Amino acid sequence: MIYCPLCHSTMVGKVGASQYYCRNCYYEFKLGGKGVKVYKVGEDGILDEVEALSSQLQG
Ligand SMILES: [Zn+2]
Repeated sequence: MIYCPLCHSTMVGKVGASQYYCRNCYYEFKLGGKGVKVYKVGEDGILDEVEALSSQLQG
């Protein structure tokens, strides 16, 4: 089960290979080898990187 790294909701949909979108807080995030990158989705669909989190989602 994938949890949102920001709000820990499980309302997360997969939108790419290792890319997910949280329908609870409207952030998108990517799981990478070093951790999680979080993106805010703009009105025009452009992703704006917010922060890189530690690998707390893995496992
Ligand atoms: Zn969330």
